Amino acid sequence: MKASAFAYARATSVANALDLLAAHGDKAKVLSGGQSLMPAMNLRLNSPELIVDIGELAELRGITVNGDVLTIGALSRHVDVLKSSEIAAHAPLLREAVSHVAHPAIRNRGTLGGSLAHSDPASELPACMLALGATIIVRGLRGERRIPANEFFTGIYETALSPQELLVAVEAPVAREDSAHFFDEFARRHGDYAIVGLAAQAIVRGGQFADLRLGFFAVGDRPLLAGAARKLVDVAITPAILADASAALSKELDPHEDQQATPAMRRHLAKILLSRCVSRLLSRPDLRAGAAA
Ligand SMILES: Cc1cc2nc3c(=O)[nH]c(=O)nc-3n(C[C@H](O)[C@H](O)[C@H](O)COP(=O)(O)OP(=O)(O)OC[C@H]3O[C@@H](n4cnc5c(N)ncnc54)[C@H](O)[C@@H]3O)c2cc1C
Repeated sequence: MKASAFAYARATSVANALDLLAAHGDKAKVLSGGQSLMPAMNLRLNSPELIVDIGELAELRGITVNGDVLTIGALSRHVDVLKSSEIAAHAPLLREAVSHVAHPAIRNRGTLGGSLAHSDPASELPACMLALGATIIVRGLRGERRIPANEFFTGIYETALSPQELLVAVEAPVAREDSAHFFDEFARRHGDYAIVGLAAQAIVRGGQFADLRLGFFAVGDRPLLAGAARKLVDVAITPAILADASAALSKELDPHEDQQATPAMRRHLAKILLSRCVSRLLSRPDLRAGAAA
């Protein structure tokens, strides 16, 4: 199938893009890398009257560190994140996660901003934003809004963005010296959308978690910052404590059924990922099977 007819405008600046979006309301769609929008249009899941192409806006590119804040422009492509020395040094979780996003041809065009605005619940990067405690920066004609990642994703393909706003950048605290991260996902093949995945960021001191942020994905209609993590912080972890956290996690999940997995299977896989994460971050092989029971 082919997309229905649409008009095309190449934005010359962020201000120009915002003017175009304001003039056309929800009949316009932003185009970044096109790796999600174009397939959706070809399947006629989305039929905008106007495409506003922001792909040439240099002001939305760049990955910089200022003090303890890492800023990533919305148009940073997945491959840019993968190759960035700033990301490798200051947000290694993102680097690891992005290598699981699709395949090289898609990573060469798809962007961080597009992935977050698209808000697929099985996407890796939205969950990373929760784990990192990132702030999503959006701009509209009335100015800029800074939205904590855990308020940005509001449902399947839904975010706090209005149709008249652009996602312009993401800010995340740089990883501390005592930070540790974990990323893993179950997928049929490397590069496929995950059946269940976990992105985690932690501070480990003296064999315990001083902080732990667990961003699960493909377990509900949006990425989940699991409250069960609180049961694992500032405590010497035993198999019983891990099992308690695992039971709490199970109550938070709202997994769906599709061709890949039943809700029960997704719950089970999420618990496996929890025990892998805790075991690996604390270097405690004895905990590896602890949460899955
Ligand atoms: C075969 C295949 C496999 C894939 N596998 C994965 C995978 O495993 N994991 C994964 O996470 N993704 C996967 N993807 C999606 C891919 O990562 C996309 O690149 C990404 O989701 C969207 O980025 P984009 O720049 O291409 O956005 P686009 O397709 O250009 O836009 C996506 C949506 O976001 C909106 N948008 C884009 N940029 C902005 C902005 N700056 N401000 C406001 N709105 C904006 C658009 O209007 C549109 O609604 C896959 C895609 C394909 C085709």
